[in-house]
Amino acid sequence: MTTTTETENILVRMHQDLQRALQKPANRRSWAMAVDTRKCIACYGCVIACIAENVLPPGVTYRTVLDIELGKYPNVERILKPMNCQQCDNAPCIAAANDVAPGSMEKRPDGVVAVDYERATKAAFEAAQKACPYKRAVYFDDGRFYTDGTPARQAYETRPSFEYGRAWTRTAAKPPVNSLRKCHFCLHRIENGELPACVTTCIGEATCFGDLSDPNSLIAQLLKENRGKVMRVNESKGTQPRVYYLTDTPVLCKSQHP
Ligand code: SF4
Ligand code: SF4
Repeated sequence: MTTTTETENILVRMHQDLQRALQKPANRRSWAMAVDTRKCIACYGCVIACIAENVLPPGVTYRTVLDIELGKYPNVERILKPMNCQQCDNAPCIAAANDVAPGSMEKRPDGVVAVDYERATKAAFEAAQKACPYKRAVYFDDGRFYTDGTPARQAYETRPSFEYGRAWTRTAAKPPVNSLRKCHFCLHRIENGELPACVTTCIGEATCFGDLSDPNSLIAQLLKENRGKVMRVNESKGTQPRVYYLTDTPVLCKSQHP
């Protein structure tokens, strides 16, 4: 990242930004993420961290890393692009899910698109998935575990997940089993002064998180300093995503993203 912070530890800087944001009322925070695709090495550290943090079962992966080839030979570029729910400001998933399961999804004042596990049924998941223009943003927890109980189910599968400030245990057919699940910018962590798990584990320092409404935050400065090298996926669909991507070829990336 070309930033004013090249001599400082970006995790320390983002943590300070986070502390400052938490001093403000929630409706004056504006959470966003920026990924520098030039720094991603597809190590999948963020993917594993997310699975561990949120105790995700088989088939549910809030974050993936897409390996995309852009252009035509000889003008070809390969881009490694971590993807999670884009926390869209104009999110078509919300109305679609709420039509079939009222109250199952909401847009929070701080920008996060949140799910109510107790209302977000399979029908809500199907509606949200159909409406969402992004691949691999929403998932359905069908109750599977990595182990089948023979030998005994492992402790890592039955410990609680603290999503949305609750303690959810996947031991029975209770939420979040049989619910729509997706990235929530690690709300339970950020509201307790910790950065999202995928951010803290990114060895390439490719993922930045913070409060866009704070002009002194790293994310705000990063987007400003890289103007012209920033893109958002499927922006033309009017979804206004809150995940930004830094790339040397934003036009190419925009035109050919799957
Ligand atoms: S990425 Fe998809 S699921 Fe996430 S807020 Fe946007 S439309 Fe909704
Ligand atoms: S912000 Fe949290 S929930 Fe979202 S992809 Fe990163 S680790 Fe997963």
